[in-house]
Amino acid sequence: MALKLTRSELLHRQNLIGGKWVDASDSAHYPVINPATDEIVAKVANSGAADAHAATDAAEKAFPDWRDRLPRERAEILRRWHALIVQNTEDLATLMSMEQGKPLAESRGEVAYGASYVAWFADEATRIYGDIIPQQQRGKRMTAVKEPIGIVAAITPWNFPLAMIARKIAPALAAGCTVVAKPAEDTPLTALALAALAKEAGLPDGVLNMIAAARDEGIAAVADWLADDRVRKITFTGSTAVGKHLARESASTLKKLSLELGGNAPFIVFDDADLEAAVAGVMAAKFRNGGQTCVCPNRIYVQSSVYERFADMLSKRVGALKVAPASDTSAQIGPMINQRAIDKIARHVDDAVENGATVLVGGRRLTELGPNYYAPTVLTGANVNMLVCCEETFGPVAPLFRFEDEDEVIRLANDTPFGLAAYFYTRDVRRIERVGRRLEAGVIGVNEGAVASEAAPFGGVKESGYGREGSKYGLDDYLSIKYLCQGGLD
Ligand code: NAD
Repeated sequence: MALKLTRSELLHRQNLIGGKWVDASDSAHYPVINPATDEIVAKVANSGAADAHAATDAAEKAFPDWRDRLPRERAEILRRWHALIVQNTEDLATLMSMEQGKPLAESRGEVAYGASYVAWFADEATRIYGDIIPQQQRGKRMTAVKEPIGIVAAITPWNFPLAMIARKIAPALAAGCTVVAKPAEDTPLTALALAALAKEAGLPDGVLNMIAAARDEGIAAVADWLADDRVRKITFTGSTAVGKHLARESASTLKKLSLELGGNAPFIVFDDADLEAAVAGVMAAKFRNGGQTCVCPNRIYVQSSVYERFADMLSKRVGALKVAPASDTSAQIGPMINQRAIDKIARHVDDAVENGATVLVGGRRLTELGPNYYAPTVLTGANVNMLVCCEETFGPVAPLFRFEDEDEVIRLANDTPFGLAAYFYTRDVRRIERVGRRLEAGVIGVNEGAVASEAAPFGGVKESGYGREGSKYGLDDYLSIKYLCQGGLD
């Protein structure tokens, strides 16, 4: 089955700036590639600093009116946007599968997930409360109000082309900010379609501006935003290395930053766990999007007495996964994003084998399917000297580490600069309390592998970044608090 759009006009190749679809200022284009085949899906605008600047001009012009709208008016537009996203699920999912490769069922799931943030923040827009501070001095009234921070620059990765950008744009718009956005170079089409639907929903011109760019030009575009003191906030999801770069480079204009960065999630299976549930948890958490998620378990720790049994149960499930292009409706794992990703996965598996790991299933490229496929893999005998222990593999590889007791596994789990997600399975309620408290991570799955929700605060600790997306806390990053002290009231 070939992937085709019902509304072909949702495939945009130009930037959205000030409500108009425009080419890059030097009319440059770059190809967006389907990772299933390495064929070109479309050629899109290759924007640079001049386009980023034009986007900021438009966002600046639109800001006063958007800021001063009633929250209810902003909420209504967000609700219309949400309805249009849901209505166009099939086309958005198709675009996403074409440029990112994930199976259609997962793409549909991501549309629903991304849309849920828009609905959530439509509601939250009307609940931005301030405080009247209990009186401290006669004749004075002290209040704290929350205001939109200003122009927000959103920069996102390729692994969730819709959800990552929706969960930045939605709270920013709800708060009354205007936005300039640059999706990842590999996956601009879903994001541009999302912007088109926001325009269709009646979002005023210039409130959301989106530019596409290849890697180097995109870096130049972002550099323009970093240096521009009109841009008051950077919200970024991506690698820790780039997050640190943005933190350094935005220091000269002291922007507020939210950084959702890389992870190295531990997944702990204690010997009193429901092993069937733990296997299901690994399948859900590890193999979603072919293992290309920031919350994927990277290190699976299994207690000694259940290690062999767990490895056997997991291998059977992993060996049965169907690897195929998104155009095959039975696909469970699609291609990886590109050759670089495949090379990294192969390097990690080869390194593990050289250092003593055993491949139970998988462990090879699937060149017979296409250029970017890797077999879902289970490794036993993983240890701290392997790359799989200290670097995000970002692929369908489950390395199993053996441990003896709780103290040891907590120490091993926390022995990483990262702290995004962690998971553990046990039936002991006291252990749940202890381990939940001691694990250093922003998001913890307790007997649960699927943790994402628009109602929950998502974000990391340590080098996985700061700031929270979703939940009642998700607006805070887009607001500043103003204190007013009114005198002469006695
Ligand atoms: P990346 O950091 O290479 O790229 C992310 C974005 O930053 C892209 O838009 C890219 O064009 C841009 N970028 C790259 N270099 C830049 C520079 N020097 N200046 C300005 N912008 C630059 O990450 P990626 O490979 O696209 O995504 C994978 C990473 O994202 C993984 O580490 C993953 O864990 C992380 N991630 C984190 C979360 C989270 O919520 N914490 C979610 C998804 C992905």
